[in-house]
Amino acid sequence: MREGVRIGFVPTMGALHEGHRALIRAARLRCDALVVSIFVNPKQFGPQEDLVKYPRPISQDRALCRKEGVDVCFEPTVEAMYPSGFQTMVTLPMIARRWEGEVRPHHFTGVATVVTKLFGIVRPRIALFGQKDFQQSALVRQLAKDLNLGVEIVVCPTVREADGLAMSSRNIYLSPDDRIRAATLYKSLQAGAEVIRRGVTDGETVRSAMVRVIKNEPAVTIDYLAVCDPTTLDPLSSVTRQAVLLGAVRIGATRLIDNILVSAKQARRSFE
Ligand code: AMP
Repeated sequence: MREGVRIGFVPTMGALHEGHRALIRAARLRCDALVVSIFVNPKQFGPQEDLVKYPRPISQDRALCRKEGVDVCFEPTVEAMYPSGFQTMVTLPMIARRWEGEVRPHHFTGVATVVTKLFGIVRPRIALFGQKDFQQSALVRQLAKDLNLGVEIVVCPTVREADGLAMSSRNIYLSPDDRIRAATLYKSLQAGAEVIRRGVTDGETVRSAMVRVIKNEPAVTIDYLAVCDPTTLDPLSSVTRQAVLLGAVRIGATRLIDNILVSAKQARRSFE
């Protein structure tokens, strides 16, 4: 099967939206047979997190998959994925150590473990992930390389609402007022990008520009805002080439993450 048919794979937790649809469409163009998994993976949720209330509109999800020409909608049960006696966990201590990993201590071990299992079951030639979860896509790339999983990892751009808010299955948790405030995170990232584009290289100055935007919206609190190297995710004291601006905020009980990639003015000029 694997030699002849090029299997494309889009792993999801369901509650599919336009961001997922974009991944599915991008995958459809690159493979013979397309598998989408829908699995709310308990191992990537912390004890105080939203595992129980995570939305599960399964018939809508199936309809979207059907409409987009998905060949297999794989919906394993928790018991099938983690039968009693299951014990192997996959960890990436460097990538998982900061940002999301710091706020959500076991999250990336859960992600790496489920992705490894899903790759083992589906055996894809190509798998697509969203830039929206930047640290997760870095982790998956590293994982596929380190463990010789033989799968090409493609990362697709973040799909946004009209006001810039990154689409997310969790956006439905936002009250109407908080939904309006939620666009502040993207505005903050844009403010940082603008400072870099104007030629500022000092990482702390860029970060301060991002922080200022969030502080203007008292209902929004910062988990982290960071100016990082896109490969290592280490904070940059000086932005001389590319940077990824990472952000995570809380609005009431809802946590939002987002990021944008930006090229330093000097680096851009040298390519022009
Ligand atoms: P999830 O169902 O939230 O676990 O996401 C499944 C896949 O969809 C992951 O690779 C996400 O990064 C990706 N994804 C989620 N939201 C978006 C978005 N707004 N734009 C692009 N990809 C996304």
